[in-house]
Amino acid sequence: MKNNRKFRRWLDDMKLGHPLTIAGPCSAESRVQVLETAKKLTGGRVTVFRAGVWKPRTKPGNFEGVGEIALPWLREVKKETGLEPFIEVATPYHVEKALAHDIRMLWIGARTSANPFAVQEVAEALQGNRDIIVMIKNPVNPDLSLWIGAVERIYRAGIENLGVIHRGFSVYQQTPYRNKPKWQIPLNFKRQFPDIPLIIDPSHICGRRDCIFDIAQMALDLQYDGVMIESHVRPDEAWSDAKQQVSPETLHDIIRRLMVRKPEAEEDIYRNKINAFRRHIDIIDDQLLELLAERMRVVRNIGKLKRAQNISLLQPGRWNKIIEKVTQFAKDHQLSEEFIRSIYTAIHEESLWQQKNGKKIEED
Ligand code: PEP
Ligand code: MN
Repeated sequence: MKNNRKFRRWLDDMKLGHPLTIAGPCSAESRVQVLETAKKLTGGRVTVFRAGVWKPRTKPGNFEGVGEIALPWLREVKKETGLEPFIEVATPYHVEKALAHDIRMLWIGARTSANPFAVQEVAEALQGNRDIIVMIKNPVNPDLSLWIGAVERIYRAGIENLGVIHRGFSVYQQTPYRNKPKWQIPLNFKRQFPDIPLIIDPSHICGRRDCIFDIAQMALDLQYDGVMIESHVRPDEAWSDAKQQVSPETLHDIIRRLMVRKPEAEEDIYRNKINAFRRHIDIIDDQLLELLAERMRVVRNIGKLKRAQNISLLQPGRWNKIIEKVTQFAKDHQLSEEFIRSIYTAIHEESLWQQKNGKKIEED
């Protein structure tokens, strides 16, 4: 699949709009809720109506979706509003039922895309349905290869109308997000597969209403191809993900406020300025890399000394002091503490590795 230029820009072909704007409830709950929500979502930029029919829940006993009785409601949505229905499939049974009800847009959820067995089964059930669109959410865990693997399985089943959805990642640490964005992972995906549309799902990243706009705007600034936002006629009464769903009115307001940036601009002033900033960043990056290499050279010397004295590699007291110092630095310099800590955790891990393997590295 790598560097395959065959991907159709289905976004253009299907005339679903750019940026692609998907909205709808977390779950289809009743015919009335589905149709009422869909009708209120028309009249703006929304062209695709999402709704979970089968819901993957972390714990048993929660609402698990109304199941296939919702499929005729979605057909009605298409007929009454023209919005294209979009649902999650996780098993061959879901695929079979969705296709039987003329649902042409399907997504693979984050828990499914983390499981190659499940993706393979779904891929086999999709085999040969060339005209449908399948969008693959990033797996819950921050693993780019697993995400690419899931996309590849669907591609090999003959589905070329592919897209991916960035919905954030589960991380062990407490963060302000329900699922941490980790922008580097989707951006690496985009770099490797520039022709596969990339959509943001700020609802599942935020887990709450008040950050949806900012995450969506950030994604559009990074040239994502669209947004998918959860919207419900009565968000507070939603049977799932109530805290992150917005009313159709709020949804329209968010969409109206989002600025779509031009991918390029010809004006000389803009070009000169951006080139200057980029050159500056390249210089700073070179310095950062040089300094990191220098730090690791010193670390290998520490390793040598510790080996000679038979002292343990990990010195928790020293490490705590470094973390305290860099956290304070972050506070004083308008940097997020989490960002600095994650950089330093990575530096520390590499330092331990370099100390342990320093002798071998120097010999090689
Ligand atoms: C959803 O979009 O409703 C959903 C369950 O999302 P995710 O797979 O990203 O958790
Ligand atoms: Mn949801």
